[in-house]
Amino acid sequence: MNTAAQSAGVLSFEDAYEVVREYCRRILKAADRQTEEILLLQGLGRVLAEPVVADRDFPPFPRATRDGFAVRAEDLASGLTLLRVVGQVRAGDTYDLPVASGEAVEIMTGAAVPVGADAVVMVEYTERKSKEINHKGHEGPQREESEDRGTIAADDQILDISIHEKPRPDENRTEEFVEIQRTVIAGENVVSAGAEARAGQELLPRGVRLGSAQIALAAAAGKASVNVYRKPRVAILSTGDELVEVAEKPGPSQIRNSNSYSLAAMVAECGGEPVQLPIAPDEEGKLTELIQEGLKADTLLLSGGVSMGKFDLVEQALKSLGAQFFFTGAMIQPGKPVVFGEVGTSPFFGLPGNPVSVMVTFELFAQQMIEALSGAEPSRLKSVKAKLKKDFKTKTGLTRFLPAMLDGGLYDPEVEVVQWQGSGDMLAAARANCYLVVPPDREKLAKGEMVTVVIR
Ligand code: AMP
Ligand code: MG
Repeated sequence: MNTAAQSAGVLSFEDAYEVVREYCRRILKAADRQTEEILLLQGLGRVLAEPVVADRDFPPFPRATRDGFAVRAEDLASGLTLLRVVGQVRAGDTYDLPVASGEAVEIMTGAAVPVGADAVVMVEYTERKSKEINHKGHEGPQREESEDRGTIAADDQILDISIHEKPRPDENRTEEFVEIQRTVIAGENVVSAGAEARAGQELLPRGVRLGSAQIALAAAAGKASVNVYRKPRVAILSTGDELVEVAEKPGPSQIRNSNSYSLAAMVAECGGEPVQLPIAPDEEGKLTELIQEGLKADTLLLSGGVSMGKFDLVEQALKSLGAQFFFTGAMIQPGKPVVFGEVGTSPFFGLPGNPVSVMVTFELFAQQMIEALSGAEPSRLKSVKAKLKKDFKTKTGLTRFLPAMLDGGLYDPEVEVVQWQGSGDMLAAARANCYLVVPPDREKLAKGEMVTVVIR
């Protein structure tokens, strides 16, 4: 990759970020990914390998969005306020006859608006009235007591509609009416058929990661199973003579290999399949062997051994395997020694071993690559502005991503850096829900200032 090769070295945060994004775009173009068919719910977090297409109109019928009465808006516009209730339609039912002028059909949310009607009046703006009609004496409206004590005045307008069953002249019967107290315009409280999507239209494109909303849409389109990309295999290799596996009892100067776990968890969270390799010692031969093993996966994440120490041998081992480096550091804290490159066509990240540095550099850089390898458009950093709770002082020169706590509610988020003992402080990372971003040219941030926060 030319631009990346040109920009090798220690880059600003923005440049390093862009180098990774450019690499991701290249990964996404190289579209030769294996796929598998899985049950829809197992698809949560997976990436679609084929589009989900509408098998019918969305919604499939004009859908009432309120309980009330389906009416013809023009009736109300012409001054009619009393409509004859000719039927009822519940969700799942159909009302087959066309609604004629002067008529209304009682309707429930989610039901299909009958033909002829074009709007729904909310039940709150209606009053039901019933009327005894004695066809011996008269026809048509006259003032009478209604069921609910409302009356129908002779001068209320009622259109006499004849397409529905007519009462027999010798029969007393009750007719149902509804008084409409608010007019509606055509289309009100109705979503017309196909308004959201037409049959055959693409609902979700290939490359979309399935979250709960996407799963719902696929379910609505009848996809009991989905075709997704195989998860990329992400090898994780922790380096360091001081490390022991988690189940082992550490000696007095040893520490447990927690980075393999934070990395594996983060890889799984963003759609990769973590492959934890054994701990690599700070010895070039064995380290190189394990790196070669890791390069067989779709990508390799190394932890530790990329600083300037005498036993930081990762870059050297990678070089001996012919690695090309896209950058060998970024002007950030934590995580400055981060390296990114490839051996042949296998990309790798060398992440600094401090537990917070590992997390920050993963979230800033490696995560995007894993998303791209899984066939998805890599996500961007999610940042918000929040009010700083306390004055904050630091040194200039690096873009800082400091473990912080964002809270304070919906409209006035506030942020505070969590107490920490530096990049090795895992407790701080576990307490934080975001990173406070300090630009490289800022020495002081003042209480009350609006600052940038990256959400984890
Ligand atoms: P390094 O980047 O190798 O210089 O390591 C920096 C710091 O991170 C040292 O204090 C290491 O002991 C610690 N560290 C390195 N690797 C791990 C790991 N896998 N798990 C936990 N801590 C680690
Ligand atoms: Mg080390």
